[in-house]
Amino acid sequence: MNRRTKRRVTTLALLATCGFALAAGDMPDKFTGDPKLETRQISDGGRSPSIVAAADGSVLALRGNMVTVASNGASAKEARKTIDCVWRPLPNSLEGGLLAQRVGLWERNRLWHMLDCEGGYMLAGFESRPGKHPWQGEHVGKWLHAATLAHERTDNAKLGEKLQETVERLLTAQEPNGYLGTYAGKDRFHTIPAAKNWDVWTHRYNLYGLLTYERFHPDDRVVKASEQIADLLIGTFGEGKADITRNGTRSGISSTTVLESIMMLYARTHEERFLKFAEHIVRCGENAPGLRLMGAMLKKEDVSGPGGGKAYQLMANLLGYALLYQHTGDNRYLETVQNGWENIKDHHIYITGGPWSRHRAYNGNKECFALQQDFEPAGAVVETCSTTTWIQLNLHLLELTGLARYAAEAERAVFNALMAAQYQEGIDWCYYTRANEDYREYSPKITCCASSGPRALEMFSRHVIGVVDGGISLASLVPCSAILPQAYGKARIKVTGNYPCGSRVGIRFEEAGGKDFALEFRDPSDARLTAVRINGEDIALQQNHRGFYRISRAWKSGDGIDIDFEYLLKGHIETPKDGPKWVAFSYGPWALAQTIEKGAVVADPFVGKGFQAQAVAEWLESCPPQDGLAPRFRIKNTQIMLVPYCHAGGYQTGSRTYFKF
Ligand SMILES: [Zn+2]
Repeated sequence: MNRRTKRRVTTLALLATCGFALAAGDMPDKFTGDPKLETRQISDGGRSPSIVAAADGSVLALRGNMVTVASNGASAKEARKTIDCVWRPLPNSLEGGLLAQRVGLWERNRLWHMLDCEGGYMLAGFESRPGKHPWQGEHVGKWLHAATLAHERTDNAKLGEKLQETVERLLTAQEPNGYLGTYAGKDRFHTIPAAKNWDVWTHRYNLYGLLTYERFHPDDRVVKASEQIADLLIGTFGEGKADITRNGTRSGISSTTVLESIMMLYARTHEERFLKFAEHIVRCGENAPGLRLMGAMLKKEDVSGPGGGKAYQLMANLLGYALLYQHTGDNRYLETVQNGWENIKDHHIYITGGPWSRHRAYNGNKECFALQQDFEPAGAVVETCSTTTWIQLNLHLLELTGLARYAAEAERAVFNALMAAQYQEGIDWCYYTRANEDYREYSPKITCCASSGPRALEMFSRHVIGVVDGGISLASLVPCSAILPQAYGKARIKVTGNYPCGSRVGIRFEEAGGKDFALEFRDPSDARLTAVRINGEDIALQQNHRGFYRISRAWKSGDGIDIDFEYLLKGHIETPKDGPKWVAFSYGPWALAQTIEKGAVVADPFVGKGFQAQAVAEWLESCPPQDGLAPRFRIKNTQIMLVPYCHAGGYQTGSRTYFKF
């Protein structure tokens, strides 16, 4: 170890554990990496069973005795603090409804399909190198992530065995120097550090999958294997070594996604060298003119710039910044993530919640963010990996801030873009979807996207109920149940109804012993609460500063809250620089779309009719719900029916979500 990187423990301090804020003067001015400038506080590892692991396996709620570590004996010029998650997910069971149906589809079908399909492709690249495809190695890490969360949900013993077997086989494939990719020796990241390949990417996902598994199934061998991977990366791309931004694609944005995985390893081990490496990756990125993600986001530039605007990977880098914020307390990391989120939300999201991308002269390819002026609903694609990472980014931000808007955006993406990409037999997924397309390209094949989508279903499901600010928080109103922690009297809470179908949700307390605490819920997106009753009595509620409705009282068995709401019909207009204006419609959290037959020629009902979005109700009429559940509208004076976007497409049908006018 370099003497400059040695640390000595100087102070023990017990810190507040939640919402810990830094004074402005505590912020480092530059990411110099100078150890003399660094003092940090690290936690005891968050290994206490009372600490709930983050549902996606990447953000931990850290608490306990904190240790201040001064660098190289230097006086503490500034402090870096571990930020506790504000909003922490609680284990829950889904109790029927659309989300449970879709999660079950994956857990009963594709989850098992992946183990044997395509000649054991998921592990073959490791066990018989070289692999056949440049990013063949990513799938096992993604599977371990999603399947670990599925096992937590189902407690399926057979799945537990398969998880363990998969991890064993992966560990066996690791080489003595830590290498755990699928490339031939001459092509590996440590033999050709400037290669434009996906070898670092594979290790990013192996770290992710292994560390997620290990969080629920403690195993020192898995930690050691992860450390060996990271040490090989450090030995190749660390301080004074090769530049990681010259590896991978688009100024290294594919390789710098490893930032999040390295921070997960730091969260698990608290080994200084991993945090130092993470910060080194940031510095390399900021020094690469084509990347500069943090610099661009802090200046509120558009996401179509950094790394060629590669949507999936740009958002995956932001996940790493979220963890850096959590483990350093440096607000600029959070600002980077939040500014990126704002830009994506305002300019790069279909009403389906899917981040759209489109190839233009100024970006890399069709998977890259394009300027909003280049919106085109049939030309722009949503990569399911992008939808997944957007959902993940929102869930991280919910954990770090407790703000309802992040839960709402995750939910919109799940109910619309994500569910549209999953075929309803449980195996097939779409790589790309488009808002307007005349069929959906479902496929049983192993693709990056088919391996990503289930992760989003699992992550979101684990975030429907949580703890925030001393109370219980419902981030979604989907039917679920949970047994609350000891601090809440171990009460059992049940959310009933059929959300997002229907217009009433119930919350029931069972086995509650009169403990006094707060319960909060988030109203559906684009909806109006019409009544909230406790045990039949109307109550008036105001949203709190995080966007939730909060009720404090002593809860007894049999207590119930009934929430009635009314979805609002809204029009959403896009006005690209060239070409027609477009309008799409939403009804509460549902994006609406017309089902299009493959190859059909469709008329434009609004062209030349003086359409105005402010008068949406004059153009649409409500019809009896589809199957008695999902909403339906007719465009007046036409036979065009609008249904939820996720129900609109199949192998022979597609969706028209945006209409010209
Ligand atoms: Zn993909």
